[in-house]
Amino acid sequence: MHHFHYTNQNLHCESVDLAAVARLYGTPTYVYSATTIADNYRRLATCLPGLDVGICYAVKANSNLAVLRHLHQLGAGFDLVSGGEIRRVLAAGGDLSRSVFAGVGKSEDEIRLALEHGVMALHVESEPELARINHVAGTLGRPAPVALRINPDVDAKTHAKITTGKRGNKFGIPLAQAERIHEALGKLRHVTLRGVQMHIGSQLTEVGPFVDAVAKAAPFVAELRRAHGIEYFSIGGGMGVVYDDALASGRAEWWDAKPVAQRPLTPEVYGEALLPLLQPLDVRILLEHGRFLVANAGVLLSRVEHLKRGDGKAFLVIDAGMNDLLRPALYDGRHEIVPLQRDTSRRALVADVVGPICESSDCFARDRQLQELGEGELLALMSAGAYGFSMASRYNSRPLPAEVLVQGSAFEMVTARETFAQMTANEKIPAFLEG
Ligand SMILES: *Cc1c(COP(=O)(O)O)cnc(C)c1O
Repeated sequence: MHHFHYTNQNLHCESVDLAAVARLYGTPTYVYSATTIADNYRRLATCLPGLDVGICYAVKANSNLAVLRHLHQLGAGFDLVSGGEIRRVLAAGGDLSRSVFAGVGKSEDEIRLALEHGVMALHVESEPELARINHVAGTLGRPAPVALRINPDVDAKTHAKITTGKRGNKFGIPLAQAERIHEALGKLRHVTLRGVQMHIGSQLTEVGPFVDAVAKAAPFVAELRRAHGIEYFSIGGGMGVVYDDALASGRAEWWDAKPVAQRPLTPEVYGEALLPLLQPLDVRILLEHGRFLVANAGVLLSRVEHLKRGDGKAFLVIDAGMNDLLRPALYDGRHEIVPLQRDTSRRALVADVVGPICESSDCFARDRQLQELGEGELLALMSAGAYGFSMASRYNSRPLPAEVLVQGSAFEMVTARETFAQMTANEKIPAFLEG
């Protein structure tokens, strides 16, 4: 499933000893496995056999240029949500003709940038946005390819903060309204309808909500195929990953023992459930997964600052904080935490694993059982490749962390740790305070 494993009790990414990476580049540092990304990509690309499938990787999950280049070389297009992401894909050598531009608030400049670089389609979230795209396309003198993002009103059964396909979420056009819009489309001279899109949420661990959403949207897709000859149906992303890991227990097939409903959602389960619904539509299918492709391909390396014994409680204070990895603080995201050097002779430790930031939410795990660790020792927060660095901030004036990409025995730093000069480069003292 991923390429992080212990060799002689030392945690490796592919053939690279992670302690060596930490010594070379310091901590906190993100490390990504190119082979894991490639494996995940191939599993997704083949999960709907017999259908014409395109993968538009959701750049917001991990927008590192090297990761984008790697996915481009694997054959991916991209799901983009800002002008900055468009520029990143271009800088990485990616292809906008295989990419889509989504988001509820695209500016005129962003729409122009996407059209000028020949984006495959813009995903429309409202009537006013459709009018804006029509206007910008008119000024450029070229038609804008669009797809309608519908809101199928299904419960994704995931964390409320990452649910996007339910009535009351800001995303997408309600189905009833979408029918009206596609009638209005005839009057807009500068847009051409290419597809239908939806995305119901993130970190879904059951296939049921995907099935419900596709079943609800299918008649609309069929209708637009007849009326407008649309070419594709994008069913969005959202496949969850298992944030509990086999590493700590050392058992590879730990989830075989779990009830079926609690097993991880795999591309195979997803494809098998959706194929019968998608096949009759006879359109190209786009998949926009972000998290699934990169989450388990990345870890965050960190060093122990102190083991602090409190009132009946222990705190393992580490040098990574919520500014480096926001998921636990933002939406109760879970990460397995493992030592880089495993020592089975040590006692167990139950501790809250916390960062150095001045916020109580700066906590990666509560009452977590770990091998006893002390000052200066190294650990890894597993499955940190998605929504990790891409959500990192400089809160508490901490520099953005470094990123390293591994492939086999090769590894290279792909983002240098930020310096203080870079952190403050755009700031200045105004003239009226000088002197
Ligand atoms: C965030 C997003 C995705 C990817 O979600 P994951 O949970 O990372 O797979 C796909 N499509 C759209 C429109 C998104 O906003």
